[in-house]
Amino acid sequence: MTEEIFRRDGYAFEFESNVLSVEADEVELDITAFYPGGGGQVCDTGTIRGLEVKETYYKAGKIVHKVPGNDLRKGDVVWCSVDWDRRYDLMMGHTGEHLLFCSLRKQVPELSVNKIFISPESKYVVVDGEVSWEDIRSALVFANQAIRDNLPVTKTIMSRDDPELEKVRIKKERIPEGEDISVVSIGDIDLSACSGLHVMETGELEMIFVDRKVSAGKDGTAVHFKVGNAAKDAAMLMANACLEASDAIESKPEDLVRAVSNLKNGSETLRKTAGRFVRKRIMDLPTQTVNGVDVVGGVFPAVDRNVFADAAEMYKSSGKVCILVSAGDSVSIILSSGTERIDCRDVLSKVLADFGGRGGGKPDFAQGGIADADAADEAFFRLREEIVQRLQLIK
Ligand SMILES: [Zn+2]
Repeated sequence: MTEEIFRRDGYAFEFESNVLSVEADEVELDITAFYPGGGGQVCDTGTIRGLEVKETYYKAGKIVHKVPGNDLRKGDVVWCSVDWDRRYDLMMGHTGEHLLFCSLRKQVPELSVNKIFISPESKYVVVDGEVSWEDIRSALVFANQAIRDNLPVTKTIMSRDDPELEKVRIKKERIPEGEDISVVSIGDIDLSACSGLHVMETGELEMIFVDRKVSAGKDGTAVHFKVGNAAKDAAMLMANACLEASDAIESKPEDLVRAVSNLKNGSETLRKTAGRFVRKRIMDLPTQTVNGVDVVGGVFPAVDRNVFADAAEMYKSSGKVCILVSAGDSVSIILSSGTERIDCRDVLSKVLADFGGRGGGKPDFAQGGIADADAADEAFFRLREEIVQRLQLIK
């Protein structure tokens, strides 16, 4: 049985050990400080006698170190080293997760944790509900004060029937029957059942910062955070982006949220007005009759795509050929045809090829686009010319 140093000392990262067994890439040691992962925290990496440990995990109740291509033998005495910078970042992240969650729950008391993920690249907690940026702001004020207060982080072992467990954040069903429960406390602000690795004092985190919040579908909301220097760097970059954005829309930084919201409402109103205008015009296009077939079309500002698609369908069902070009940041085109004499897909791919654009669809309905927004008028004229020529050729 391997002695698990990390259970009693998260700060030990170099140690001497005896090799208990070697099976291909998998090495078992009599003592290890390599954390095999758990509680949402990824496993440790490092070296055994200078050979790279790619991964550490439990296999049939034993801790296995994956050392690809090793030449280790049973009985070897080896010097081992956990990648300390990486491990310490994970310990800080794990402690940060406890601190962030208990701070969020001060704002939203009914919140519970659905998932935790702590890796060097990404740290987040998925909570089973909505949290607003205001909740997060208040939680961060609380959490960063707890960091300045340098609260002790301690681990105690409690039995399953200890009445004090009432006060602990715990998912009892996840803890095997008969096993004692490891409880981590942060000062007097949080008690949580957890067997992961944590730092000893909140001050070690230096700073915690939430840099992203995304929906996790039915699981709730993923709140991404950073600790230590990564938190300081992210906060600095985002504060700078906020100042730059304030300048760009000529608002004060403290008014930015309200100013952006007003801007968004304004552009939404404009978009709706433009949509109504285009819808009205598009239903009443001038008609050119060629060889008995009505051809309609025009160039419009970009509005809701459904406005164009509905109009194209309407013209098609009345037997007409319709060319709708909309110009925004790029050019979008819809062609529809109520006659077998015009194959939309064929016309579109031929004309768009000259503009470096692309399109596809069916003979009676095709769509495509061109990157160059200034080419809208020319594309329209070329499409109409192509359609008129084709209709004139057919007797
Ligand atoms: Zn933990």
